Amino acid sequence: MRLYEKPAHVLHDMLVNKEITSVELTEDVLARIDEVEGDVKAYLTITRDEALAQAKAVDEKIAKGEKISFLEGIPGAIKDNICTKGVKTTCASKILENFVPPYDATVMTKLKAENPVILGKLNMDEFAMGGSTENSAYHPTCNPWNTECVPGGSSGGSAASVAAGTAIWSLGSDTGGSIRQPASFCGVVGLKPTYGRVSRYGLVAYGSSLDQIGPVTRDVTDCANILNIIAGHDDMDSTSSVAEVPDFTKALVEDVKGLKIGLPKEYFVKGMDPEVEKAIRMAIEKYKEMGAEIVDITLPHTDYAISAYYLIAPAEAATNLQRYDGVSYGERVEGEDLVAMMTNTRTEKFGEEVKRRIVIGNYALSAGYYDAYYLKAMKVRTLVAEDYAKAFEQVDVILAPVAPTTAFKIGEMAGDPLQMYLQDACTVPLNLAGLPGISIPCGMSSKGMPIGMQLIGKALDEETIIRAAYTYEQSQEYHTKMPQLGGNNE
Ligand code: GLN
Repeated sequence: MRLYEKPAHVLHDMLVNKEITSVELTEDVLARIDEVEGDVKAYLTITRDEALAQAKAVDEKIAKGEKISFLEGIPGAIKDNICTKGVKTTCASKILENFVPPYDATVMTKLKAENPVILGKLNMDEFAMGGSTENSAYHPTCNPWNTECVPGGSSGGSAASVAAGTAIWSLGSDTGGSIRQPASFCGVVGLKPTYGRVSRYGLVAYGSSLDQIGPVTRDVTDCANILNIIAGHDDMDSTSSVAEVPDFTKALVEDVKGLKIGLPKEYFVKGMDPEVEKAIRMAIEKYKEMGAEIVDITLPHTDYAISAYYLIAPAEAATNLQRYDGVSYGERVEGEDLVAMMTNTRTEKFGEEVKRRIVIGNYALSAGYYDAYYLKAMKVRTLVAEDYAKAFEQVDVILAPVAPTTAFKIGEMAGDPLQMYLQDACTVPLNLAGLPGISIPCGMSSKGMPIGMQLIGKALDEETIIRAAYTYEQSQEYHTKMPQLGGNNE
């Protein structure tokens, strides 16, 4: 077994026991990148030399007998909308093609304090708008389980790299499902924390009231450990929560006895792939066997969540993306006067989906339409949040699919934005409500594509979803499987 196949917690123990060095590990992952990155295309920037230098420094520390932290010396990578000082951060957009942030996002500052090895920056849908990574201005990323399929999105690079073994762990961001859906499509673990749990300072804004950064990992143990590192209040993000951060690794216990798990009937939608439904139903049976109590619940406003999300997120995006004007940030395309320069810059440097959302967002916010669209969407948002609040009076966690299907073919939906938006039915509602959700592998389709399930928690209660996820994970072996790259797994 090669080193890149192991989760971070196993590699950490091997480093501590001096069975391996960080340079050996980093070289193995870089070799894996050389072997399969041409097929997967998860990266936008690879910082090979810096990675090896970081690994060397960690080995020197270990040689001196110093203690190392959880992620120390373990190679991982970062979604390209998280600012990394001195390393290009493009958001997979042409408008930020040469943008090198002069500062680190708070999550980077926190990570760097742990001395991990950073391999580079990961591909995504442009400005995190999309669910397939096909909206990257550079290239699509391919699903390591079948390179003809999408890895999901928008954190497609984050999930594909971890699944392919070209990173041991990664960070993604989730505005309407962008961590959970790619995790589900690629057979890895992805957690969207409660809104405010992790600082957004230095995360390039898409929908500021919805965005959260979270870990993408091989298993739930790594996920809890990385959440420990990145969570916590930050004075640089006024929306970050002041709530105390528990030690999430304490939730890594196998125990769901008496846990009340709610099944929302609205999430088992018509048109769902029967294989996905079957895998989720089997997971439910497993939970019953392990002593959990299954409760049928209703979240009656679920149907309206997509419409509300696709008004609120574009409205916020339209505002956030005003700053790319050819003056303050990024690229410029000259014109005969200021207006022409701005028009040329934004016309040429933004992709189609980004422009579509800017137009929708500005329309929804404009005088005369604000009440009919934006305000109404905000009312729906409250109703969706109230649905969850009521449900959580009855249950401890909610179990649902992540996506109605497994990963679809590249190009299959690219020309149909509405069909693409409908894919987000099971993920956007909890962003509207600010709740935490985790996606963990729970099955394989007959075509060999991973299936994920989603566990949704109360606000600031990541611990319960981590416990429920860990208990299930330990009862089966999906998290130990890796794709055979280079071929189709059918
Ligand atoms: N697929 C959703 C969208 O296109 C979610 C994206 C995200 O979470 N960043 O907006």
